[in-house]
Amino acid sequence: MTMKPDNPLHFLEVGREDPPTTPAYERSRTMQEISLAYEPQTAKAQADRCLDCGNPYCQWDCPVANHIPQWLKLISEGQIFEAARLSHQTNSLPEICGRICPQDRLCEGACTLNDGFGAVTIGAIEQYITETALARGWRPEKPKSFTGQSVAVIGAGPAGLGCADVLVQNGIRPVVFDKYARIGGLLTFGIPPFKLDKGVVERRRELLQEMGVEFRLGEEIGKKVPFSQLMKDFDAVFVGTGAYTAVDGGLPGRHLPGVIPALPYLIHNVNALLGLDNATPRDLTGQSVVVLGGGDTAMDCVRTSIRLGADSVQCLYRREQKDMPGSRKEVKHAREEGVEFTYQASPTAIERKGEQLVVSAFKTAPGEPDESGRRSHQVVPGSEMTIEADLVIIAFGYRPSPPAFLSEAGVELESDGRVRVGGKGRFPGQTSVDGIFAGGDTVRGADLVVRAVYDGRLAAQGILGQLRKARQSDAA
Ligand code: FAD
Ligand code: SF4
Repeated sequence: MTMKPDNPLHFLEVGREDPPTTPAYERSRTMQEISLAYEPQTAKAQADRCLDCGNPYCQWDCPVANHIPQWLKLISEGQIFEAARLSHQTNSLPEICGRICPQDRLCEGACTLNDGFGAVTIGAIEQYITETALARGWRPEKPKSFTGQSVAVIGAGPAGLGCADVLVQNGIRPVVFDKYARIGGLLTFGIPPFKLDKGVVERRRELLQEMGVEFRLGEEIGKKVPFSQLMKDFDAVFVGTGAYTAVDGGLPGRHLPGVIPALPYLIHNVNALLGLDNATPRDLTGQSVVVLGGGDTAMDCVRTSIRLGADSVQCLYRREQKDMPGSRKEVKHAREEGVEFTYQASPTAIERKGEQLVVSAFKTAPGEPDESGRRSHQVVPGSEMTIEADLVIIAFGYRPSPPAFLSEAGVELESDGRVRVGGKGRFPGQTSVDGIFAGGDTVRGADLVVRAVYDGRLAAQGILGQLRKARQSDAA
């Protein structure tokens, strides 16, 4: 067994080293994942940098409370299978979160070494653990037996997968329904392949199937299969249907030809790559693209446009760079790949002038902080500018889109459409109706993969509690 170096100041001798990425000029021509894997010795040297500081802030700021210092220690000791087992105890999609969590805002942002020494590369090591363990033959444990109870999971996104994972580990048979032909939700039909290879998501489907999860893909609940049928056929139902109502800001000109919402643009690209829905790849050669928005979705659109051959890609964001809600590493990657950023520019309209689209925008200045703590932006009078484009992509974010069957079943919603869960006397993740649980973007509004996984896992604990109670009262 290898050991952690005795020198407590090892982190000074070995600096933070992110996994290598394909050079920008090469990667901007392909849709392939850009981050390359750690070599085992680099993974160990980076894991050794953990101070084991005694206050695992990293763990507290990880939404699934991963046992980070413990699995870093196991990597130091070369115990890869043990690290994978521990990593899967808290996270259903560790190889995926390791790739796409905004670590700078979560675990790594809280690392003690982030204060001037470079945080431990927690995300990259989390990815390394599962990738290496799987490549060496490790598999998540299968349940020893099944109770005979089964749960319908609607939505094969991170929330649904997190829920199914915990249920199957506890001997409850999950049947996961999704309207799409592939699992993953936004992991597949949203987040582009250069951030997350689609094969990684498919491999997770195989692993979950091996554990006993059943997938029924291409089945939209509320259409061919009524929700009421699931309520009759299953012991409980989990709803993880996401948030898909695009915010368009009522921007004049948003319906013009050549102006598209972000998600259909990204989905089309994935469909073309996967050979689904008869989609053909878009060719943006010679075109100028303007993307409106500054979150993860906007970053995915600008970087996809670069890869589709656009001549110029510009991102317009209404606040300052430091207020951008997405991951900093994505902005860095976008800039390296040739995307131009115009900050503090608030679009007011899109018009068509001959062959060209013209985006009008005003310069903004920071105002008072809003309820999120970010400073509001105020338009600077007389600062109007115009930008010409062939294609304008609107990436202002998403609001909840609660399926009609939930209200029909009596499930209470928040005023903005989010599904209400929990509260006094309810199991975790339970809605206002017994037997119906929910989590992920459908409960929080558009958020993060790791928080959806957390919600799914938590709701599974709630379902287990309810099923246990039902078994006890049957036995009494
Ligand atoms: P979803 O992933 O949306 O999955 C919901 C699933 O439910 C879908 O598969 C849908 O087909 C299915 N469904 C809906 N209705 C029905 C029905 N009636 N019957 C059957 N199936 C149904 N987060 C990060 O952490 N990092 C990132 O880098 C990141 N990038 C993003 C990029 C984009 C473009 C977008 C849009 C989001 C991004 N996010 C990112 C956010 C993240 O993807 C979501 O927060 C997360 O996927 C939510 O998981 P979920 O399971 O709640 O919903
Ligand atoms: Fe960090 Fe995300 Fe992994 Fe948690 S799940 S340790 S936040 S990368």
